[in-house]
Amino acid sequence: MNFSLSNEQKMLIETVRRFIAEECAPLEDDIDATGFLDPDQARALFERARSLGLFGMNMPTEFGGGGLSHLDRILCEEQFGRTSDILIRRAFGNVYEPLLHCRGEQIERWLKPTVAGVRTCSIAITEPGAGSDAAGIKTHAARNGRGWMLNGSKHFISDGEWSDFFLVSAKTGEKEISMFMVDKGLPGFTLGKDQKMMGLRGTPHLELFFDHVQLEDVALLGDVGQGFKLAMSALNVVRLAQVGARAVGKASHVCEMMVNWACERKQFNTRLGDFQMIQQMIADTVIEINAARWMVYQAAWMLDQGLDAREQIAMVKVHASEMLGRVVDRAVQVFGGMGFCKELPIERYYRDSRIYRIFDGTSEIHRGVIAKSVLKKGAALFDVHR
Ligand SMILES: Cc1cc2nc3c(=O)[nH]c(=O)nc-3n(C[C@H](O)[C@H](O)[C@H](O)COP(=O)(O)OP(=O)(O)OC[C@H]3O[C@@H](n4cnc5c(N)ncnc54)[C@H](O)[C@@H]3O)c2cc1C
Repeated sequence: MNFSLSNEQKMLIETVRRFIAEECAPLEDDIDATGFLDPDQARALFERARSLGLFGMNMPTEFGGGGLSHLDRILCEEQFGRTSDILIRRAFGNVYEPLLHCRGEQIERWLKPTVAGVRTCSIAITEPGAGSDAAGIKTHAARNGRGWMLNGSKHFISDGEWSDFFLVSAKTGEKEISMFMVDKGLPGFTLGKDQKMMGLRGTPHLELFFDHVQLEDVALLGDVGQGFKLAMSALNVVRLAQVGARAVGKASHVCEMMVNWACERKQFNTRLGDFQMIQQMIADTVIEINAARWMVYQAAWMLDQGLDAREQIAMVKVHASEMLGRVVDRAVQVFGGMGFCKELPIERYYRDSRIYRIFDGTSEIHRGVIAKSVLKKGAALFDVHR
């Protein structure tokens, strides 16, 4: 077992970290204050990231992506956790793995332009009446002579305003769910309000409405009734990257700030870091971050070996997101009043971190998945030598 990173991996981490510190960090405060990223700034950020080969790194080279292994991609995603959601999307791309199920004409029309950053895609599964119960959706698509007729609605769709098309789940039978690529601008497809959130300022979260939207046959992703399963399994990788690895990165960033503060700030003529109760918070923080990091790396390694990492990723989702919640809470405490004050970004990290336990499957849903797997397959499922 070799836990060391190669020189190439260290350079990759360094490049991404420097890009975030130099290009993204200066934009963060303004985005949080205004809730808005200037499209010209977004364009410039994208161009700079693309020129360094940092856009769409998770996608295979045959489609124009960076061709990174799962582990290398995870190392980058960990760094992404150090900046704001909307900046990650614009700088590095949010090219979702389910798009890799594109075939034939779909590759040129949807997949490759997305990897190139020419088009942007969002995933639209959640509806007001169907969140955790993703199969309980009402949106449906019926076959007609020209393809499919789509009706229904979605909500909370991240990045909706910036997106050119959406991967939409829809019922195509009583119990059958398929995925469709739905272009913005199609007649009958309208965008609703931007649903304001506690955090992730700058990222729009939209309602979508489909009123007799005519889709071509080619808009169907995968086979009828299969696309949803394909999408859900591909979203596992997204979950590991965008929740697991980013939680570790965000927690590490917050931890560094917490430690610096504990070294600099004095009360009672003593550094905060010399008080044992502060030391406990620091020690618990680094212990938990390291535990989560190795869980994330192990799951990525399993994916690179072609192993089924579903249960591991469910464990990562719960542990990393809850670890992040505890870390940002401690950071607010160590910073005291300044942790609650908008003059420092700690309160923003606190707000931005809360959603990690909710999206991409809540902690409760993933705990259910883990427990059911253990009860069905036995505790040996989680042995390293299975
Ligand atoms: C900021 C943000 C961004 C999002 N981005 C997207 C996006 O881009 N695309 C998209 O499709 N969706 C998106 N979502 C939706 C997100 O995935 C859902 O909010 C999430 O899956 C939870 O669904 P819900 O909000 O309907 O909560 P509910 O499903 O109503 O759950 C409410 C509570 O009940 C619990 N619960 C539900 N079922 C069970 C059960 N069986 N056992 C135990 N407890 C249970 C939950 O864990 C939770 O605590 C986003 C949401 C937010 C807030």
